[in-house]
Amino acid sequence: MKENHFETEAIRTQLERSQFLEHSSPLYLSSSFVFEDAEDMRASFTEEKIRNIYSRFTNPNTSEFVDKMCKLEGAESGYAFATGMSAVFSTFAALLNSGDHVVSCSSVFGSTHTLFTKYLPKWNITTSYFNVNEVDAIEALITPNTKILYAESPTNPAVDILDLEVLGEIAKKHNLLLVIDNCFATPYLQNPIQFGADIVIHSATKLIDGQGRVLGGVAVGRADLIREIYLFSRNTGPALSPFNAWVLSKSLETLAVRVDRHCENAVKVAEFLEGHDRVALVKYPFLKSHPQYHIAKQQMKQGGNIIAFEVKGGVEAGREFLNRIQTLSLSANLGDSRTIVTHPASTTHSKLSTEDRMETGITDGLVRISIGLEHPDDIINDLNQALN
Ligand SMILES: *Cc1c(COP(=O)(O)O)cnc(C)c1O
Repeated sequence: MKENHFETEAIRTQLERSQFLEHSSPLYLSSSFVFEDAEDMRASFTEEKIRNIYSRFTNPNTSEFVDKMCKLEGAESGYAFATGMSAVFSTFAALLNSGDHVVSCSSVFGSTHTLFTKYLPKWNITTSYFNVNEVDAIEALITPNTKILYAESPTNPAVDILDLEVLGEIAKKHNLLLVIDNCFATPYLQNPIQFGADIVIHSATKLIDGQGRVLGGVAVGRADLIREIYLFSRNTGPALSPFNAWVLSKSLETLAVRVDRHCENAVKVAEFLEGHDRVALVKYPFLKSHPQYHIAKQQMKQGGNIIAFEVKGGVEAGREFLNRIQTLSLSANLGDSRTIVTHPASTTHSKLSTEDRMETGITDGLVRISIGLEHPDDIINDLNQALN
């Protein structure tokens, strides 16, 4: 039978019905599961039988969420985490050994950057960085110890695009594992495995939940690698809670329609900003002015919901703009139904040196907006009055 479409898999991938024949999957708030007898217990622990033992390992709700994510990303296997960061950290911890080396895009999520600079070095794991615009420089950074090539696309917060096909080719040529944080695109807009990614990571906290309610994360990809990530996690405990998994699995049912509207709104806002004379620069992947517009068009279905733009007048102008926002939210999240405005230079990335900030594309007046599901005219009106 032909594979179902994305929307159908996002809705119809669900647990086997229980004796009650519920239509929508129930919530299994159970920390552990019972065995029929000693032999059942023994065989379950040796994995001769595949079944739920303890919710730190697996739980029906997390399994449903993971199965769905695997189908939506075209992955063999996966494991769900309490947060996006625990997915990122556990992937590194499970796949890297002391002495290994990572090559990463310099523009990555703030906490991921902190893992590279502060924590991985504790285990003698080092990282070299390439600039988003210098994919040609990657090969020169690869050493005999390099194990992982890591990137996000679009990047947070500068909304740059990396050519995933090129990254896939480099990873293959040098026998590296390609790990992609696909948070901004969601599996609906982009599937990095098609371009050669071995592991795809998501912060499910963002567009997958989509309403700013729960934290969650997931890693999907090659079965042998996920097995290592699973064994690490089963023993160290970053598991997603069944309740959050239940919420996230329901959320995936509406991901396609939500993201369609997010993107439709984002295009309207990006076009508005591009025409405003207090705005120096707008970065949105599906605007022709975006430096990597052609790559974005090739690898993404739509441009996503994040826009970065530069208010004329530097840090003070950026802060002033935020202070004048009325309806929209000043908040640290993104991918929410509510539009969220942030000023990375004075908040999330304020601890970076000016040089490091510039290196990652975070200029003083850069504002990041996560476009929500409000009426686009109301989003534009609020931005307009704040800019004026
Ligand atoms: C938010 C985010 C993360 C971390 O996810 P949490 O769920 O907050 O731990 C990782 N990568 C990207 C790109 C993000 O936006």
